[in-house]
Amino acid sequence: MTFAGVLSMATARLRAAGLERPEVDVRRLVAFAAGIGTDRLSLHLREEFVAGEALERALAARLARQPVSQITGERLFWGRSFRVTPDVLDPRPETEELIAAALEEPFARLLDLGTGSGCIALSLLAERPAATGLATDLSEAALAVARGNAERLGIAVEFRISDWLSRVDGRFDLIASNPPYIAAAEMAGLAPETRDWEPHLALTDGGDGLGSYRAIAAGAGAHLRPGGRLMVEIGAGQGTAVAALFEAAGLGDIRIRPDMDGRDRVVCARAA
Ligand code: GLN
Repeated sequence: MTFAGVLSMATARLRAAGLERPEVDVRRLVAFAAGIGTDRLSLHLREEFVAGEALERALAARLARQPVSQITGERLFWGRSFRVTPDVLDPRPETEELIAAALEEPFARLLDLGTGSGCIALSLLAERPAATGLATDLSEAALAVARGNAERLGIAVEFRISDWLSRVDGRFDLIASNPPYIAAAEMAGLAPETRDWEPHLALTDGGDGLGSYRAIAAGAGAHLRPGGRLMVEIGAGQGTAVAALFEAAGLGDIRIRPDMDGRDRVVCARAA
């Protein structure tokens, strides 16, 4: 069968199983099984592809709702490839809004709280090679993935186990975080890809979804340089509550930024 034929066969199988937008997934899975980049796939459409074991395994995993990034082991984020495992949150395009916001001003010293795959810290440090950074996580397994990504990308950053700011010292120009913000009560309603495959530690605080922001708001002020910025990803609908937490913590210049879909996605604040 040609690559084109394999693509339509695989797309039909995923669609029949009720997966949404199977075309995008299938391109990544077929390219992965063939050992080529997704961006090269179109060049091979008329060629023969003997769809073997690798594609069968990939499709079976996808039919079991495993996220494509976990199956292929990688995800493109802000132009770079990150290793993704079930120990870290799959980097999502909406988090790129936080990167864009962070890069609007210079910074020399960066702190990323709950770094997961490392996608925020490593993207920001890649863009600002003169800056230095500390990236924390509560999960040793996540830090191992982040360390691997730092090595692969050739970016120097210090990693440390920490429960939010508990083991952080020093002051920073920029504190960034994509914390777990899904309320415990909302977990059951998530897509199976997220609920059944991604680390719950990275998704929910186990409470009302604002617990991480309370911890970050309580500690950030003592670790920001004068004029330093705090920048967090939020879930749609949390903007007002998170802005209020930051204001109560004595931070100023609070802004809520939407993502490309128009949903509130990032809250920014500044130390006096
Ligand atoms: N954006 C993720 C989702 O909606 C949640 C990530 C997070 O809690 N930080 O599934």
